[in-house]
Amino acid sequence: MTQTHQHEVIIVGAGGAGLMAALYASRSADTAVLSKLYPTRSHTGAAQGGIGAALGNLEPDKVEWHSFDTVKGSDYLGDQDAIDYMCAQAPEVVYELEHMGLPFSRNPDGTIAQRRFGGHTNNETRQPVLRSCYAADRTGHMILQTLYQNCIKNKVHFYDEFHVLDLLMKDGVANGVVAVELATGELHVFHAKSIVFATGGHGRIWELTSNAYAYTGDGVAITLRRGLPAQDLEFFQFHPTGILKLGILITEGVRGEGGILINGKGERFMERYAPTVKDLASRDVVSRSIYLEIRDGNGIKGDRYVHLDMRPEVVNHYAELDGRKLPDGTPYRVTGEQLLSKVPDIVDFCRTYLGIDPIKEPMPIQPTAHYAMGGIPTNMHGQALSDAKGTIVPGLFAAGEVACVSVHGANRLGTNSLLDLVVFGKEAGKMAAEYAKSADYKPLEANPTDFTREQLDRILGKSGGEKVVTLGEEMKTKMMDDVGVFRTADGMASAIEKIRELRQRYKNVGVDDHGKRFNTDLLNAWELGCLLDVALATAVSAHARPESRGAHAREDFPQRNDAEWLKHTLAWMDGDNVRLEYKPVTITKHQPKERVY
Ligand SMILES: Cc1cc2nc3c(=O)[nH]c(=O)nc-3n(C[C@H](O)[C@H](O)[C@H](O)COP(=O)(O)OP(=O)(O)OC[C@H]3O[C@@H](n4cnc5c(N)ncnc54)[C@H](O)[C@@H]3O)c2cc1C
Repeated sequence: MTQTHQHEVIIVGAGGAGLMAALYASRSADTAVLSKLYPTRSHTGAAQGGIGAALGNLEPDKVEWHSFDTVKGSDYLGDQDAIDYMCAQAPEVVYELEHMGLPFSRNPDGTIAQRRFGGHTNNETRQPVLRSCYAADRTGHMILQTLYQNCIKNKVHFYDEFHVLDLLMKDGVANGVVAVELATGELHVFHAKSIVFATGGHGRIWELTSNAYAYTGDGVAITLRRGLPAQDLEFFQFHPTGILKLGILITEGVRGEGGILINGKGERFMERYAPTVKDLASRDVVSRSIYLEIRDGNGIKGDRYVHLDMRPEVVNHYAELDGRKLPDGTPYRVTGEQLLSKVPDIVDFCRTYLGIDPIKEPMPIQPTAHYAMGGIPTNMHGQALSDAKGTIVPGLFAAGEVACVSVHGANRLGTNSLLDLVVFGKEAGKMAAEYAKSADYKPLEANPTDFTREQLDRILGKSGGEKVVTLGEEMKTKMMDDVGVFRTADGMASAIEKIRELRQRYKNVGVDDHGKRFNTDLLNAWELGCLLDVALATAVSAHARPESRGAHAREDFPQRNDAEWLKHTLAWMDGDNVRLEYKPVTITKHQPKERVY
């Protein structure tokens, strides 16, 4: 029996973006959060290195520098009005989190501790700047716990382990969602005035990834199926330092604390690719450099990886060569104990997954699929957009990794995602509540669960047939090989063909579990459908862009082409076809120029 619930604001997702939206929406509207995971298991909890804000606690820093670094990091594809807004809000939201109770690491004088991160610089000296506010290497965990506790305090209504499978719309207005309750297998309809999607990313499309199993692109796939566009999907970030063969992330904070990338010849190779900031260049630059080293036979023992070395003697050696100083002017020197206290989880991961102690041995690493710069197009208030003219979809909002504001453009700087979540999560929550106050509940269609039921029945109706795991593995390998760090027209064309073939075979996918309670077999099959849809839209968007920009690196078009391609992609799906349109980038202060680190 389908149950129907009514709340003024429904938020789908309980990560940093969803919880920040819930906190603000719940101040003035009846607000409920639906999440397929228990809230504190959301992926925000995995974020390690920090949240960016030009607090200038230890050395001079400015909001304008943060803003320019973000524009440059985005390879000039980020919208500069949104970037300015995010960076200007950063100090305020960091202090807001602090006042909510977030236990940041501290400087001796009690101010919030800050570390260096890739692409964040003092714009005058061009040297890395201390901008990332952190809580050891558990910053996301602390943000998630703090926001969840505050939501509980504010009496936000939580529907935990409710998996949303569809967005309901009437006459172009969003008016609800359909979810399956994991514990019972029953469908529930949630009737709402405002719906905020905060469902996170889709890194499980690729073979090697830092992303959790739940990162299956549900939000983007659901909105694509409802005829809405996805923006800039071709820009997906590969983080330089994933643990060899596992993809588990080693935070950039390790390099911020002085860790060095070393190739098989024992060279600090980043000196050649980014002479000024070296190991702390932006992620697209470092990931490509690692691939080039490996391709030139300079991997460790000629193999497909390099080392990240944070042994104190190595950190101190290179800090001395670089002339690195502490804010008080004394030479930068670290001990093993200090490193352990700054990145305890990383040390623990290495001991657990690699059986090595990174204070005594270098870590074997390779680039890992990490972050979706693209997603549901929104304006700066989190309102979802339906076309290149910026038409607002009434009642629909998006925030966090699922959304594309766009503040990250073609390449995100580390620490700017956590910032994006809290700044635009807050905006989306405020706006959703405001909209709900002036809107009526738009009536639901007669049979709101039909589309969902059809999708589930098709999967449940098959025994045997294609296996979820086989189709998933074929997709991941193909996307890693041909829509990965480096791309070519032929490779991407063959990926498009392959994903189309997999989508055909997916129609025949079957599951072994035909029960109702906690049927994760069924939901994994449904999630694979989302991944395949997003993979197809990604590959088509990438194939259509004949230039290299940020994370989209084409071997056949190695240069950026501002004259023709300084524009955002919008992709719509109609069956197997993906239709593309383009819209201009908002440039305010910074005209595109060559990007050198
Ligand atoms: C290992 C790692 C380290 C990182 N470190 C940093 C860092 O130091 N600094 C930084 O800025 N960024 C970092 N990032 C990136 C950043 O953590 C993420 O981009 C960000 O946390 C995403 O937050 P979110 O709120 O958008 O999504 P999430 O936190 O992933 O939340 C998504 C929510 O949506 C729910 N959901 C999804 N689909 C459905 C559905 N169909 N129905 C119901 N609920 C659904 C999930 O249950 C979850 O609650 C890191 C990422 C990783 C993977």
